[in-house]
Amino acid sequence: RAKSNGRGHCQLFDPVLASEISERLEFENDLRDALDRGELELFYQPQVEVGSGRIVGLEALLRWRHPGKGMVSPTVFVPILEELGLIELVGEWVLRTACRQHRVWRERGLSPPRIAVNVSGRQFLRLGFAETVERILTEEGTAVTAVELEITETVLAHDTDVCIETLRRLKRLGLEIALDDFGTGYSSMSYLKRFPVDTLKIDRAFVAECDVNAEDAAICTAILSLARGLGLKTLAEGVETPGQLEFLRREGCQFYQGFFFRRPMPVEEVERLLAEDVSLISSRHFKPTVPE
Ligand code: C2E
Ligand code: MG
Ligand code: MG
Ligand code: MG
Repeated sequence: RAKSNGRGHCQLFDPVLASEISERLEFENDLRDALDRGELELFYQPQVEVGSGRIVGLEALLRWRHPGKGMVSPTVFVPILEELGLIELVGEWVLRTACRQHRVWRERGLSPPRIAVNVSGRQFLRLGFAETVERILTEEGTAVTAVELEITETVLAHDTDVCIETLRRLKRLGLEIALDDFGTGYSSMSYLKRFPVDTLKIDRAFVAECDVNAEDAAICTAILSLARGLGLKTLAEGVETPGQLEFLRREGCQFYQGFFFRRPMPVEEVERLLAEDVSLISSRHFKPTVPE
């Protein structure tokens, strides 16, 4: 953070600033080593079908277990990974880890739903991104239906040609794409017509008060109606209360995720949840009247 001293441009030594800078450098150095030290891991948050309560997806959310600072939020370190040019490397690790996790769960008979993987703008707009995705899926023996990619709408505004080409390639592979944090960026609605995406994820900012605030309700309703008109799926993020869920159900939102159902969870907890879910479904299958 630069300190401006007005027109004199005289920059005095500032011990607070200096210690901030050295702290920041230390933080960056820690981050550079985080991957090699095995300090990064993925948590998973269930995505649920509003109508049935069925778990249809798991969003992979990156976590950094810092040895001294504890758990660091991706909102803090993902932007720094981008600045340091490390996001491609970490992004590939995230996708590969999600693919491997999916396979492990498959092999244990847990019937995992598909995993949604966040992709940073820098990673997505890099030439060859679609090929990288294809290579990782092939190397890990992962079906295209086992993963979904989440990009933010601001990506669409950046490098349109690269963006369309990459999206087309991913679609040709058979991957589904969700537009994350929808409604917060600057992208024009006409982008939705040109870019082949599958799902709009309504940003948490609009969901938080959708059942009590008329403006937020109007925005949610407008997004849902837009999505319906364009044949896109809808998922509301950040659902915390039954009131919000009820509003979304009434307005025809198809999927949701949020603390109301489950917080993002470490692997062992997901496994317990998937095991429960499987037993629920299989107990239903014991009824001879319900064929599968
Ligand atoms: P996002 O992709 O929009 O993820 C949703 C965020 O909302 C997550 O924060 C999640 O923990 C949080 N959340 C979910 N339900 C609720 C709720 O009911 N209430 C509240 N208050 N929050 C809820 P998280 O895990 O801290 O991640 C923040 C952001 O960091 C993500 O936003 C995404 O943009 C980025 N991120 C996370 N993992 C990755 C990754 O692997 N790669 C990249 N490029 N970015 C990532
Ligand atoms: Mg996301
Ligand atoms: Mg989101
Ligand atoms: Mg968000």
